[in-house]
Amino acid sequence: MNRCYELREARPKEERGTADLSTGNVISYAVSQKEKESYADILRRHGLEAKLYSALRWKKNQVLRGIYWWYFARYIRMRDYQKYGKCISCNRQTDFEQMQAGHFVPVATGGFSLLLDPTNVNGECEGCNGFDEMHLRGYERNLDIRYGAGTGEELVRRKHQDSMKEWSKLEYENIKIPEIRAQYEELLKTQ
Ligand SMILES: [Zn+2]
Repeated sequence: MNRCYELREARPKEERGTADLSTGNVISYAVSQKEKESYADILRRHGLEAKLYSALRWKKNQVLRGIYWWYFARYIRMRDYQKYGKCISCNRQTDFEQMQAGHFVPVATGGFSLLLDPTNVNGECEGCNGFDEMHLRGYERNLDIRYGAGTGEELVRRKHQDSMKEWSKLEYENIKIPEIRAQYEELLKTQ
């Protein structure tokens, strides 16, 4: 239906980019003006500025996943900034701007449901999220404190069992994106 998805599939690999998982920020692509406009339209429909288009395409041209992530990551960061104000792994005080949305079970191994699971993704400082190999020890400890004993183990168990399929474009557009956007905007009101 929407040609722009198919068009992007055909592009050579090196022309693709990737959005930063933690911040939702990033990356430049070489795209035609035509594609740019169709992405811009999708972004505007979900309340985002058209210029974010290059930041939000994420893997296999999933602009809708990128838009979801944009709201989801901010929701997670704001939730944890308001509630705890510190990194889940090292307990260091971290404000909203410095906080990243960091995965416990990593993106590469977690499957789709853990990718966007609000228990598997928590506010984490840049150092722990990006560079600290040992961060998962503290992360797991705090998962158990915040969500109950065994939460970390349960998430790890799920990565082997979970085969949830990614939401369809219609689900993203009509249900999931509006839902996470509303949740994020709700948090902003309590700022
Ligand atoms: Zn940290």
